[in-house]
Amino acid sequence: MNKEFRHVVITGGAGFIGSHLCDRLIESEYQVHCVDNFSTGACGNISHLTDHPSFQLVEADLSRELRIKGPVDAILHLASPASPKDFQQMPLEILRVNSRGTENVLELAREKGAVVLVASTSEVYGDPKVNPQPESYWGNVNSIGLRSCYDEGKRFLEALTMAYHRYYKLPIRIIRIFNTYGPRMRAEDGRVVPSFITQALAENPLTIHGTGLQTRSFCYVDDLVDGILRLLQSQYTNPVNVGNPNEMTIYELASLIVRLTGSSSPIIYKELPADDPQQRRPDISLAKSILGWEPKVTLEEGLRKTIEYFAAQK
Ligand code: NAD
Ligand code: UDP
Repeated sequence: MNKEFRHVVITGGAGFIGSHLCDRLIESEYQVHCVDNFSTGACGNISHLTDHPSFQLVEADLSRELRIKGPVDAILHLASPASPKDFQQMPLEILRVNSRGTENVLELAREKGAVVLVASTSEVYGDPKVNPQPESYWGNVNSIGLRSCYDEGKRFLEALTMAYHRYYKLPIRIIRIFNTYGPRMRAEDGRVVPSFITQALAENPLTIHGTGLQTRSFCYVDDLVDGILRLLQSQYTNPVNVGNPNEMTIYELASLIVRLTGSSSPIIYKELPADDPQQRRPDISLAKSILGWEPKVTLEEGLRKTIEYFAAQK
């Protein structure tokens, strides 16, 4: 990455994706301010960085306020719980961090003259009627459903960010992240990859929701981090999908994880949660053409690294 953005703030920097971004920027000799309240993040994700002279931890709830001393060139706004289990347990925190929290981030960017990249999600497409999903698709979202705190929170984040761009001419980037996995996900966060891996490693049954014929497309975290940094350095202000278009059923994922772990776990079936999207696959034509980005890590390679991480946690 070029050094135009020397001082970078990462909100949610102690989370799964945020901590990988912190690593990448510290490796490239940036000054990093990591803002986190540890609601779903973990000290362990960044403990190897806390004594680094270019790394500063700001422990704060950015839905209340966000203050950073000194210059800021870029803000990467990733703070938000992201797992469907969190949608049940912390809906108000999710709505707050994507609304007030995002407003605090955008105000900090105005004050510092910084560019802002906000983390949106494939969830803005809801349970999509179009497959794969291009950025031009407006989505199919239940505004009062169990996932609505997140889906509508992220739609509001996009709307607010666009309004700051149009009204204040703030330089913005909006990334729509599709299902991403890798080391540092929480074992119990309920998302499918850590759930299946920890179940398989413990020789417990893998719990498929519904028929297992619903689809997702999984992107390894290193590829995503590369896409985030490419988008930051582009001049593109409309939303961009970043994800891996390799679509598969949840049953296929379960079978692959059983094979890669060498587990003898059976597969069992549980009720499908309400509004669980039936299909999801990113159309990444835009990311390919404007960022020259496409994923490089195969699912098998990424899952092996993730399995290694969870196996070492025991
Ligand atoms: P995560 O839960 O691991 O990370 C979120 C981080 O934000 C945590 O460290 C948490 O403590 C912090 N945080 C939450 N509320 C905060 C607040 N009010 N103040 C300060 N810090 C706060 O989740 P993740 O998977 O790393 O996701 C990061 C971002 O990427 C989120 O915005 C999420 O919506 C988006 N995203 C992730 C995925 C994915 O598959 N992982 C997919 C789409 C979008
Ligand atoms: N899922 C599952 N078993 C689990 C956890 C999740 O079958 O133990 C399913 C879930 O219902 C969904 C898919 O896997 O259909 C992906 O779930 P995840 O929570 O990882 O992501 P999201 O639904 O937000 O895409």
